[in-house]
Amino acid sequence: MDLPPGAIEFFDPKLRQAGPLRAAGKVDLVTGSLGEIRVKGHAKVLMEADCDRCLDPARLPLDSDFELYYRPVSEGYGEETAIDQSEAEMGFYEGDGIELNDVLREYILLSLPMQRLCGDTCKGICPHCGQNRNHIQCQCQGEAVDDRWAALRQLK
Ligand SMILES: [Zn+2]
Ligand SMILES: [Zn+2]
Repeated sequence: MDLPPGAIEFFDPKLRQAGPLRAAGKVDLVTGSLGEIRVKGHAKVLMEADCDRCLDPARLPLDSDFELYYRPVSEGYGEETAIDQSEAEMGFYEGDGIELNDVLREYILLSLPMQRLCGDTCKGICPHCGQNRNHIQCQCQGEAVDDRWAALRQLK
């Protein structure tokens, strides 16, 4: 199946889907469980986010397998009881089933890197003049280095 950009709501204004999402997979009832559902598949999508350092668009291609588990809310699992780590990573579903869009949103959010950067070498925004240092070689850094040397010279 293909989902065009905009089909999934990410509730994050800094995050966008930049190309069609290709997904294939299947939904199984986990044997021996109380209605636990496993969604297993593969998804490929190009995501775009504002770079954490410079705010330019950062391209974040995702192309991987996923496996997500869901439990029915009606079994009481949804209550705020002592939830251990493995349960915290498990989603819940209500009623007859789960929305595939919800599953794909969760896959994407889990797969994105913690730091969303336009590139490993992103220089970020200059804290002094506010310019994007990937585009403009501002003079602030040079001055800062000079200042440090001046301070060292004063120590002598
Ligand atoms: Zn950047
Ligand atoms: Zn600057």
